[in-house]
Amino acid sequence: MSISIPTIQLKPGKEASLRRKHPWVFSGAVASVNQIPEDGQWVRVVDAKGQFLGQGHFHEGSICVRIIDFKDNVVDADFWVNRLQKAWNSRMNMGLIDNTSTNIFRWVHGEGDGLPGLIIDVYDNVAVLQPHSHGMLRNANDIADAMQKVGRDWKAIYVKPAEKNGSQEPYYALGSMVEIQAQEWDLKYSIDWETGQKTGFFIDQRENRKLLGKYSKGKKVLNTFCYSGGFSLTALQAGAIHVDSLDSSQSALDLTLINVALNGYGEDKHAVIKADAVEYIKTVGSDYDVIVLDPPAFAKHLSAKHKAVQGYRKINEAAIRKIKSGGILFTFSCSQAVDKDTFKGAILAAAIDSGREVKILHQLHQPEDHPISLFHPEGEYLKGLVLEIN
Ligand code: SAH
Repeated sequence: MSISIPTIQLKPGKEASLRRKHPWVFSGAVASVNQIPEDGQWVRVVDAKGQFLGQGHFHEGSICVRIIDFKDNVVDADFWVNRLQKAWNSRMNMGLIDNTSTNIFRWVHGEGDGLPGLIIDVYDNVAVLQPHSHGMLRNANDIADAMQKVGRDWKAIYVKPAEKNGSQEPYYALGSMVEIQAQEWDLKYSIDWETGQKTGFFIDQRENRKLLGKYSKGKKVLNTFCYSGGFSLTALQAGAIHVDSLDSSQSALDLTLINVALNGYGEDKHAVIKADAVEYIKTVGSDYDVIVLDPPAFAKHLSAKHKAVQGYRKINEAAIRKIKSGGILFTFSCSQAVDKDTFKGAILAAAIDSGREVKILHQLHQPEDHPISLFHPEGEYLKGLVLEIN
């Protein structure tokens, strides 16, 4: 990087976490800057003695720098190509590339791939680049150029900032809206990366959806918070006798119906329910053998943690009370602020209040294409439990 970029000097002793390769610099650690950086600009970070620690994107906020490079490399086209290639090779090792049953996966997962603020998801031969920071948004065109030199012969590269900015026109760095054949576990999905939630699909539940199949044959399944119906489809694929897909959003239910039909299942085996999940579960009978609870993040920030834990306790208690004897509950939390022990504690409280017998059969987490840097444990966000209830 050129020497003209702003340099941020840390207070004495505040370099320790960066030396351990944790990529965040908190504003309280900063002693001085030689020029005020713009939001999203590249900056260099040095210790109190002026020694280089890393370079990355500046942000106006409590995490004021996210380090992208712990070395003093030149950040040019090759820099991005190398980083993307490294993440691509990692997906190759995971068996996600040239996979005939699944062509939906995450190519880049932020800090887990050494690229804080950047998500890239792949749907067949379309890639969706989602900047979660101003820095990555500023670099989006360079990254999209580099993407064209790595991986596949992309038909389209769509840039979808995580923060919506008014009535933004859809922005394609390459191509335009195209027809694709997206599939996961041989199930076909219609993916709308322009208007869908996240980049269009909840890729992080792939392995857990597969596991649901194991418990669904001949069973009556309730899939709450269904979004595009992924859990419903693995249950149907595995031979569930009936699946109900519930969501509070009509567009999610419409998407679920499209995906169920795409795979040849009909109304004899599947129905949608538009309702609030918590209220609905309180009113159902006790004839569901399997229930899936995959709510959106109840706590987006640490400040909301207590309320979130109460939310998990309440909905899980309702499901544990209502499920058939011998039934299986798949329950998840994707709140980063609620760690796995806290989540387990909420489920324990729910189980005690329900008065039923509850066993843990599986402890679930995010899949390998959502890796967690050992130096950045905050990257662990998805956790789940498979419970047998008697
Ligand atoms: N399990 C899904 C992803 C869930 S995303 C999958 O595998 O793809 C969370 C979903 O919860 C969203 O579709 C959202 O519309 C829905 N939702 C949010 N609050 C809800 C509520 N109170 N009741 C029912 N659905 C809700």
